[in-house]
Amino acid sequence: MAASIHHWINGSPKPGDSGRSGPVYDPATGKERARVAFASVEEVDQAVAAASAAFSDWRNTSLANRTRVLFRFRNLLDGAKDELSEIISGEHGKTHPDARGEVQRGLETVEFACGISQLLKGDHSERVSTGVDLTSVREPIGVVACITPFNFPVMVPLWMVPIAIACGNAVILKPSEKDPSASNRLAELWAEAGLPEGVLNVVHGDRVAVERLIEHPGVAALSFVGSTPVARAIYEGGSRQGKRVQALGGAKNHMLVLPDADLDLAADSAVSAGFGSAGERCMAISVVVTVGDVAERLLPKIEERIAKLRTGPAADPDSEMGPLITKEHQERVISCIDSGVEEGASLLVDGRGLKVSGHEDGFFVGPTLFDHVKASMRIYREEIFGPVLAVVRVEHFTEAIELVNRNEYANGTAIFTNDGGAARRFQQEIQVGMIGINVPIPVPQAAYSFGGWKNSLFGECSIYGPEGVYFYTRPKVVTSRWPDPVHRGVDLGFPRSR
Ligand code: NAD
Repeated sequence: MAASIHHWINGSPKPGDSGRSGPVYDPATGKERARVAFASVEEVDQAVAAASAAFSDWRNTSLANRTRVLFRFRNLLDGAKDELSEIISGEHGKTHPDARGEVQRGLETVEFACGISQLLKGDHSERVSTGVDLTSVREPIGVVACITPFNFPVMVPLWMVPIAIACGNAVILKPSEKDPSASNRLAELWAEAGLPEGVLNVVHGDRVAVERLIEHPGVAALSFVGSTPVARAIYEGGSRQGKRVQALGGAKNHMLVLPDADLDLAADSAVSAGFGSAGERCMAISVVVTVGDVAERLLPKIEERIAKLRTGPAADPDSEMGPLITKEHQERVISCIDSGVEEGASLLVDGRGLKVSGHEDGFFVGPTLFDHVKASMRIYREEIFGPVLAVVRVEHFTEAIELVNRNEYANGTAIFTNDGGAARRFQQEIQVGMIGINVPIPVPQAAYSFGGWKNSLFGECSIYGPEGVYFYTRPKVVTSRWPDPVHRGVDLGFPRSR
C-alpha cells in the first residue's frame, strides 16, 4: 500500500480526515509512491486556530530566543541536506546535485533570517518638536499563509517561512500536492529546533485549502509562488479580503547574445539554464535571442553540448537532467513541441519520444531546440516549463530589447556581451525584475530580494531579503512627549514645531 502523507498541525502529524487525497509519483518510474491528504475547510480552520493561538506568545518571545531557534534550525537543516535532497529527488525527479543546490539556496535565506535582531531595528528621532520624540518599529502581522509550487519543494518554502517566523508571525504552509514530503520534514526540523507548537503548521491539499486560506478572517497575509493564473487569482481574492498579498507567477526568460559575446560561455549558459532541472525553474532560460549573425556561430555550439547531455533518473549518478513532474505535464510539453513544428519553427533537436532504458514509464522529455521561432508562436507565447529552448533571431540590439519588453512576463533576463556600454543600456532599458550580465540565472543572493515585474509578480513586495522582512511586518510609529514642567495651555491650532 502506498504511504500516506499527513498534515502537520500544532506540532504533530495529523492524518487527513477529509476523505480526499492525491497521488504523489516517482517521476522517474511513473509509479505512485504515496498518497497525500487533501485538507478540508475544517482542517484548514484547525490549522489557523493553532497558528492564531501560538501567535501571541511567539510574537512576545524575545528576539534573543527567536534567534536561537533560527540558529538551531539552520544547523539542523545543514545536517539534513542529503536527506532532504533524497526526498526532493524522489518526488520531484531532479538530480541530487541540483536538489542539494536547492537546499543550499534555502539555507542561505535561513542564515539571512538569523540576523533578525539587526533587521528589525527601528528608527528613532529626538526632538521632532519641543519635547517630542518619534520612534518607528515594525511588528509582525499575525498568521501568514505560504502557498508554494512543486518545482522547489524546499527552497521556496524557505524563501518564506524563516523570515515570517523570525519576524514573529505564525505560519500555515500549503506546499504543492505533487511533492509534499519535504515540507513535513522541514516542520519536524523546526520542532526539533525548539519552535513552539502551532507557530508552523503544514496543511496539504488543493484549491479547497487555498481558497479557505484566502477567505479565512484569521489569515492576515498570503505569500504565493506558482503559475501566473493562480498568482493573479490569489492576489485578487486575497486583496478583496483586505489581506496583504505577494504572489509570484510564471516566466519566459530571454537570454540575449550579442555578436561580440564569448560564444562558448553563452552556449554553456544557454544549455545549463535551459535544461537544468528539465527547464522546470522559474528562472530557466527559455528563449535565446540572437542578434545579427550570432545564430550561425552559436547554434552549432549549443547543439554540440545538447548531444552530450545525459537524461535519466536521479538515482543514476550520471544523470544530468531528470524527468518532468507528472505525466500530464509531460504530455503538455510534448504538445507544445508539436505546436512549434506545426507553426513552422525549425526543430533542431527533438526531445519527444525519448526512452530511458529501465524507466520507460518515467515522465521524461529530452532536451529540445527550436530555431527561427516567431513571437506569434505558442512555443514563444506560453511558459512551457520544460526542456525546450526557443531561438529567436533578430537583426538589431534595439529589436531584442523591444521583444523582451513586449513580453507579458518579466521575471528574469540575461545579456551575453563583452561590450560594457551595451550591457549598461540593457540594464537601464529592460523592463524585467532580475537581470544577469553574462550570468544566465540571476537569482539574487539572500540579502537581496527576489521578484519579477508584470505578470511575474502581483503585489508590491518581492520575496525574501529586505522586502521579505517588510512584507511580514507592519509599521508602527510612536510620537511621544514627556513634558517638561512648563505648561503652555490649550492650543487649538494645527500641531506645529516650535
Ligand atoms: P501552480 O500554480 O499550479 O501551483 C502552485 C500552488 O498553488 C500549489 O500549492 C497548488 O496546490 C496551488 N494551486 C494550484 N492550482 C490552484 C487553484 N486553481 N487555486 C488555488 N490554488 C491552486 O504552480 P506549479 O505548477 O506548482 O509550479 C510551477 C509554476 O510556478 C510555474 O509557472 C513557475 O514559473 C512558477 N514559479 C514561479 C516562481 C517565481 O519566483 N516567480 C518560482 C517557482 C515557480
